[in-house]
This record gives sequence, structure tokens and C-alpha cells, in this order.
Amino acid sequence: MTTIQDVIRYLESVAPPAYQEDYDNAGLITGNPEDEVLGVLTCLDATESVIQEADRRGCNLVVAHHPIVFKGLKRLTGATYVERVVMEAIRRNLAIYAIHTNLDNMYFNGVNGEIAARLGLTQTRILAPRSEWQTVRFALPSSLEPRLRAQLPELSELLYAVPAPGNTVVCELRFDRARQSALRQLIQELAPESMAASVWQTATNPHPSIGAGLIGDLPEPLSGREFLELVKSGMRTSCIRHTALLEKPIKKVALCGGSGSFLLNRAIAHGADAYVSADFKYHEFFDAEGKILIADIGHYESEQFTAPLLQKIISQKFTNFAAYCTEASTNPVYYS
Ligand SMILES: [Zn+2]
Repeated sequence: MTTIQDVIRYLESVAPPAYQEDYDNAGLITGNPEDEVLGVLTCLDATESVIQEADRRGCNLVVAHHPIVFKGLKRLTGATYVERVVMEAIRRNLAIYAIHTNLDNMYFNGVNGEIAARLGLTQTRILAPRSEWQTVRFALPSSLEPRLRAQLPELSELLYAVPAPGNTVVCELRFDRARQSALRQLIQELAPESMAASVWQTATNPHPSIGAGLIGDLPEPLSGREFLELVKSGMRTSCIRHTALLEKPIKKVALCGGSGSFLLNRAIAHGADAYVSADFKYHEFFDAEGKILIADIGHYESEQFTAPLLQKIISQKFTNFAAYCTEASTNPVYYS
């Protein structure tokens, strides 16, 4: 029997939740982790139609890219689609698990790797590797170690936990700086006296393969027009919002699935000739400054291959239940 927790544990090995962004809410959103998995449905957005499809196909676990609950929910009356999805999931005993910015930040098996492969990029590397890392070393009463371990996957990597005199265990954790305050709070709650004697240090990034966006090279230079055609066919879209075509050929390409305008300057600094992403605002197009071709292909379009990717990741590992990719297009944006 495979439990929901077993699937989660595997997904966490693919994209550790500790690498999600601060604002994110990736992880198990509804459901009992001890339940047996009857079937999995993967999607970009856990909408009402996806919940109904899961039920119809006998799936009790929905693995979504975007967390249906982002901020807190103060009431559940069914007034919004978010409330209705959560209520419906609970009513049908259906688990919803979100694997979001932690998956965005992965070089291997990530959202961006999928886009790069579709554009045929070579020599790819992370555009903005996570750089701010820390370690913390502290002693803890041995009896509290299981509680510490239970909470760690969301926060940090456990480098070691060795028994020490006085029924204690000395632990060292390595974590992304974004997780620092949450980790301080955890240690403070578990053992305030450990917090007082803890040693916090900066560390080098142990994972150059973790971070936002990707950059790589086209096999051969293309004109701006040819490049846009490549993006259209590779990403199966007929509509791209873009800046003025440049005189120079497109050779180096930066990309980021989803809302990626925050990486524009980095793409320019790394010498990218084009930047493929989504959710650019009007004024942000001006920031191209004639240096780079911004190609805004749409949020859904940029991430549409994430659901099949998740389905592949799960079905390659587990064979005792079916994993499907949703048939529903959950794109709320239409073009006419
Ligand atoms: Zn997204």
C-alpha cells in the first residue's frame, strides 16, 4: 500500500520544500497523509473542474503546481472558488498537494528545464542561483530530536545529529537564508536554552543547481522573428507579447516559467539576447532598453508542461496506482 505521505516524501526528494520562496504555500493543503493513494491527478491549478475530474477518475490525490490556498482562509462558506475547492476536497476526502516555487527552483526535473528542452537550449545553467545560505549548530535534549526531525523537511537540511554527553544530541542544519526566522522560531519553541547557545554562520551555496530561471544557448543564432516562431511552436502558443525585434541575432536565451519580470535585469547582465517569461506589466517592457527581446508568452502557456512533467515524475516511481494528467485547461486567460 502506498500512502499519500509516501508520494509526498518522494516529491520532496525531487523538489525539497525548503527551497520554496518565502511567500509560497507549497505542501499538503488538504487531506490525510496516512490515507492510501487510490490514484493521482496532476494539474497546474486545482480548480473545481480538476477536483471533479479527480473524483470521476477515482483519484484521491491532486498534485498541483499552484497552491490553491496562498494566504490564510478566514471562512469557508463557498463564496469564492478557493473556498469551494477546499470544501469540495474535504467533502470528497481528497488530498491536494502543491509543489510550486520549490519545483521552479530545481535545475533537474524543474519547470524551466522543461521550457529549455522545448526551445532546444544547450549549456543551460541557473540564471539566479540561490546564494544566501547559512548553517546553525546547537545541542538539543535527545528526547526532542524526533520533533525536530519531523519539522525539518520544510525548513532545512540536517547535516548531522550526533549523540553528546548529558543525553543531548548536537545538530547542524544548513538552510536557505529565507528560512532563517522560521528556523529560529522552531528552535526557540523546542528548547529555548539551545537557542541561546546556538552558532549561526554563513555558508556557501551547496546547490548551484537550485535557483530561479535558466539561461542557455540556441544551437544556432536566429533572427528575432525566427526565434519567436521557435517559441510559438515549442511552447504551443500562437500569441506572444514582445518588445521590438532587435538588429542582433538571438543566441543566448534566458527564461523563467510563470511571473518572471523580476529576473529581467539579471538576464540582461548575463548577456541574454532574449528573455522568455510571463506576466510582464506595460512599464516593464520599457526596461528592455533595446538590449534584449522580451517574449511574454503567458503564465499558463509557460507552465503548461508542468502537469505532464509531474505525472511522469510520479508514474515513473509508483506503479501500484494510476497517475493521470488533467484533461482540463485551467487557463483563466482567453485571447480573441
Ligand atoms: Zn505559475
